[in-house]
Order: sequence, then C-alpha cells, then structure tokens
Amino acid sequence: MTTVDLPLLPLGRGSDPLSERGVECPGDLPAASDPDLVARARAAKEKLGERVFVLGHHYQRDEVIQFADVTGDSFKLARDAAARPDAEYIVFCGVHFMAESADILTGPEQKVVLPDLAAGCSMADMARLAQVEKAWEALAAAGVQDQVVPVTYMNSSADIKAFCGRNGGVVCTSSNAEVALEWAMAQKGPDTKILFLPDQHLGRNTAVLELGIGLDECVVWNPFKPNGGLSAEELANARMILWKGHCSVHGRFSADVIDDLRARVSDLNVLVHPECQHEVVLKADFVGSTEYIINKIEAAAPGTSWAIGTELNLVQRLAKAHPDKNIMFLDRNVCYCSTMNRIDLPHLVWALESLVEGVVVNRIEVDPKTEAEALVALQRMLDLPGRTSRD
Ligand code: SF4
Repeated sequence: MTTVDLPLLPLGRGSDPLSERGVECPGDLPAASDPDLVARARAAKEKLGERVFVLGHHYQRDEVIQFADVTGDSFKLARDAAARPDAEYIVFCGVHFMAESADILTGPEQKVVLPDLAAGCSMADMARLAQVEKAWEALAAAGVQDQVVPVTYMNSSADIKAFCGRNGGVVCTSSNAEVALEWAMAQKGPDTKILFLPDQHLGRNTAVLELGIGLDECVVWNPFKPNGGLSAEELANARMILWKGHCSVHGRFSADVIDDLRARVSDLNVLVHPECQHEVVLKADFVGSTEYIINKIEAAAPGTSWAIGTELNLVQRLAKAHPDKNIMFLDRNVCYCSTMNRIDLPHLVWALESLVEGVVVNRIEVDPKTEAEALVALQRMLDLPGRTSRD
C-alpha cells in the first residue's frame, strides 16, 4: 500500500494514514457515562500499587489529574519518571512527544503508556523529520549549513531531538531557552546561526527579548516553500532561522484582548507563556513557563488581578485554587488543548485496568538509535549552566 505523508495527522506516522489512531481501543473502553469510573480508576491503581506511576501534565483535565502521582510540565514529568526506576509502568497523561521523552529517560524494562494514542501535539507535528532533513540540505546548498546549530524545543518528536543530537544541537524547554540559545550561539563563532524547531514564537521571543537579537535578524523557514521561502541574502543575514511552527492554543492569544482587559480591570497583571505571539509577549507584564506561571500566582498577593495566557485547564485550576485572587483567561473564547483533552477518565480506566490484567496497551517505545541520538541532545541540555529567572 502507498503511504501518504500527512503533516498534521497527530500520530499517523508509520501506521495506516487513513485512520485516526487511538479512536478505537482494543477491548472495552468504558462509557463516559459510567458512574463507577472514579471507583474503577482508584481500584485499578490500588491493585497496581508501586508498579504503576501516573504522570499528569498541567494541561490535563481535573478528572485525570486527580489520579496523577505527580503533576508538572513536560520536562519535569520526564525527569520524575526517570527518578522512579522501580515503577514497571509509567502511565503518561499528556501528549505523545512527552511519553517519548519519558521512554528515552527511563530504563529499557520500564513501559511507558499513553492512554489515548490520538493525544498528539499539533506543534510537534509541524516539524517532521523529512522536512527538517530537506531544510538541512538546502542550508548546505546555500553555503550556510556549517554555521548553523539546530535547537529544538522539548515539544518535538524524538526523531527531531535525535536530528539535533547528531548535528551538534541541543534540546531546550521554555524555562531554559535563553541559556540553550546562548550555548548554541557560542558553538560556531561570531557567524553562528540557529535553526530553531518547531516553535517560531518561543525562538523569536527568546532571541529578541533575552539575547538582544534584532527582529530583522530572525527569518521564518516555511517547509512548504522551496528553500523555506528565503533568498540566499536573507539566509546569509539571519542569525535565527525560525521553523514555521506554532502552538494552536498559545497562538490564539491576541494583543487587542490585553488592551481590552486593561481598559476594564485596574492594576491588571498580564502573565503569558513564551509560546504566545511576539506582540502578545511585548504587551505582557510577565512571561514564563507553566511552572513559572503557577509559582507567580502562588506568590501573588490576595486581591491582585491576573489575566493568564496559557491552556484553559491550568487557568481554571489556578482560579479554583486561589479564590482570593482575581484570575481570568486571556481569550474571549474557551480554548483547551484538544489533543491534551483526548486523555479522559474512560481512557485512563481502560489503560489501568488493562495493566491489572497484564496487558500493556498503547506502549510508547522509541527505537534504540533514535533514543541514543536524542539522549545526546537532551544531555547537552542537562549540562547547560543553571536555569533562567523564568524558571
Ligand atoms: S498546548 Fe500547544 S504545545 Fe502543548 S500539547 Fe497542546 S498544541 Fe502542543
């Protein structure tokens, strides 16, 4: 059968491209209306005991988060998983690239499970290995590849991390992007250029606001155009080559909503994630990772007002946990991460009960070569000095 490369199909890679993986689960997926779901999840988790470790990303639904042994952002969760070598099963309530990172950082005998395989990430899917390899060749043809260091955001597939590992690059998170870019800029002398994957906004915001690189020194590589849509002169003058990718959630926040809210709420603090567009970040008072956002709200004085630009599940949870603060969402519309939301209680119950029966469902396994190369880029990140003030 001829396979079709569909760029935005969350997890169709290497499987039937005409089906949406994860929609059908082998065995019986409990009905969402089953009144015993909470009791079933609790019972299955108790039966598994220390053999299972459940990780919950901050953007997960409350119905799932209540069963998480730890919560955190993608990097913290991968490290938490690595710190539990005794756990036979790691159930990752998050999205596919996070489960891949957990598999890379845990032992070969540990099994990482993603309760719904359709929980992908549209941003990670915007940079596919074939596209990046093609861009790399085009950079060589343009005579600049020798000056380029690839840097990939944690929110990328394992094969993109591996690409960075074998080409002298590094992984970064939203907390350490500044030090990762500083490290990368020092790798090839004064003419170094960075190919930043896959989120153009994190790359641009960090380069311009933290490293003082000019907006005119940032160009966007469009993988759907010949030579990325860039002229030889544009490439020669660029210091940051930003991959044309974005987060479908954080890309929604807009500067006019900030103006609108500031006109209506006095002393408003605007707190956003660096995956937001540059003009939004410029208008915000505080910018940082999900962990930074949580810490900022926890430390805020009672009675203060906050408009937060990140995923809605987290904003709602913060508002519930801090009723003494005036917390609002920085968008006029409801905006959840639809792929994060794929992990619901029925899928979690199904995954846990399958493990109780000795059946490992939806295992995420990175092949050994990709894992070894991705580990090189991850290790370079772990070796970076300190973390930033936005940690
Ligand atoms: S919030 Fe954005 S970056 Fe995070 S998983 Fe969803 S689409 Fe991907």
